[in-house]
Amino acid sequence: MSIPDFRGDLAARVDAVLPQTQCGKCGYRGCRPYAEAIASGEAEINRCPPGSAEVIAELSALLDVPTKALDPEVGPPTPPQVAFIDEARCIGCTLCIQACPVDAIVGAAKLMHTIVAEACTGCELCVPPCPVDCIRIEPRGTSGAGRKAAADAARRRFEARNRRVKRAEAERVARAAAQASRSAEQKKKETIARALERARVRLAARG
Ligand code: SF4
Ligand code: SF4
Ligand code: SF4
Repeated sequence: MSIPDFRGDLAARVDAVLPQTQCGKCGYRGCRPYAEAIASGEAEINRCPPGSAEVIAELSALLDVPTKALDPEVGPPTPPQVAFIDEARCIGCTLCIQACPVDAIVGAAKLMHTIVAEACTGCELCVPPCPVDCIRIEPRGTSGAGRKAAADAARRRFEARNRRVKRAEAERVARAAAQASRSAEQKKKETIARALERARVRLAARG
């Protein structure tokens, strides 16, 4: 008989409360990893600046633990916000695309990039990599119901991106292994060819 994974279930319930900004300010690589750390008892419930007091209260009720103030170590509360690119200054380096955890930026190498405002969680992760400082963060007004729908959509985009990144990494590793195997085969053929050539020269010298 299989044992139900109550910890995984609890992590999913904690994750459902988190705002899905995917900013990493909690010290984890996204909301789901933080949810798993809370579910396993490794992390406290007060480390999410975008969720702030509201999320702490919800987690306190869900887990039946005392509420507490936002941990000063993670910085001040982050209100809903959205990023914009000054497209006239963008040099199309793609660094912001690589940093965005929810695929909210569209553009191609050497072409102007733009942010899909509805998909942007305001995580700020695209700001530091931009070499020309052309990304700005602005406040965004979102209602409670709108926030929940946006969080669900952000979770789906985050998961889809993680699957894509994982698949690309697996393909890269497979290509490298195939290349290494081809190189080893080639080296073996060259070694045999050299040995045969030496033998041929020796035989010719004797004869
Ligand atoms: S919104 Fe940011 S700080 Fe809050 S749980 Fe998600 S990744 Fe962590
Ligand atoms: S566009 Fe920037 S701020 Fe918006 S989600 Fe992507 S990385 Fe975060
Ligand atoms: S990091 Fe900055 S310059 Fe590079 S593509 Fe993004 S917005 Fe443009």
